[in-house]
Amino acid sequence: ALSEGELGPEQNGLIVSHFGQQVEVESDVGLRQRCHVRAHIENLVTGDSVTWREGKPTGVVVARNDRHSLLSRPDNHGKLKPVAANIDHIVIVIAPEPRAHANLIDRYLVASEAIGISPILLLNKSDLINADNQAYLDSMLARYQEIGYSVTRASTAAEHGLDQLKQTLSGQISVFVGQSGVGKSSLVNSLLPGTDTRIGALSESTAKGKHTTTTARLYHFPDGGSLIDSPGIREFALWNMDREKVLAGFIEFRPFLGLCRFRDCKHEHEPQCALLDAEAENKISPERMASYRQIIQSLNTD
Ligand code: GDP
Ligand code: ZN
Repeated sequence: ALSEGELGPEQNGLIVSHFGQQVEVESDVGLRQRCHVRAHIENLVTGDSVTWREGKPTGVVVARNDRHSLLSRPDNHGKLKPVAANIDHIVIVIAPEPRAHANLIDRYLVASEAIGISPILLLNKSDLINADNQAYLDSMLARYQEIGYSVTRASTAAEHGLDQLKQTLSGQISVFVGQSGVGKSSLVNSLLPGTDTRIGALSESTAKGKHTTTTARLYHFPDGGSLIDSPGIREFALWNMDREKVLAGFIEFRPFLGLCRFRDCKHEHEPQCALLDAEAENKISPERMASYRQIIQSLNTD
């Protein structure tokens, strides 16, 4: 055992939560300790892989390893702040009720593409599929599958599709996003039995007084894989987006970009627009084109 003020040897670690100047680090064998962070290491966030040393009473993080992805969101002043690192999958949760809207899905997809994290579409509440909504959902999901996105179905209520979902998430770090009411909390609760994901959020908000913004926490699924969760992550959206990024986020548009007659083509009603031609030839779906225009318009009016 270490004595007061002594530090152990350097080892690998994973940041499982962060609070102001301190972080909680997990070792390769699952030991967790509160740590200080050496001053030269900026913006350490949940999901970061680090080199650290055990200590008494607190350890110390001495280096941050390279990140393969980073999710950021704007602070109160609109400045982008890192929130979570090394996420492999953004699970976009949708449901028959509240009804899934393609435009919202496209916004999540564009945002995922912009930060380079692969999205997965998860249709939850599959027990609510019925004669009225089935055709709508099937054709919408088929459209995303055709583009190349992976689509899974699950029901936390009927306990259907959960094994398949666990398999998909195994060995990866995921986050769940989606509009309120689609069943994100229910999913998290069934994937993490016995874990109250609100506990961390609560203690942090009381520690900081009135602040309701809570930091992200990393949880391990019993069958492998991890989840990073926080209210802020669930509200993930199109932050700091411009026309170029939105276009690039519609991945099936990419082969046609740069082929329009006009270099500054806005793909609205210009002659010899490669995107409009592709739409006319059914190479791009009208729903996705409409969604693209809607997103661009909302950027212009924000
Ligand atoms: P969140 O806002 O995305 O976190 O959604 P919640 O997990 O709070 O779920 C919203 C509502 O949907 C709750 O009343 C849940 O009981 C219900 N719900 C969640 N999953 C399912 C499901 O698979 N089927 C059905 N029928 N209802 C569900
Ligand atoms: Zn064009």
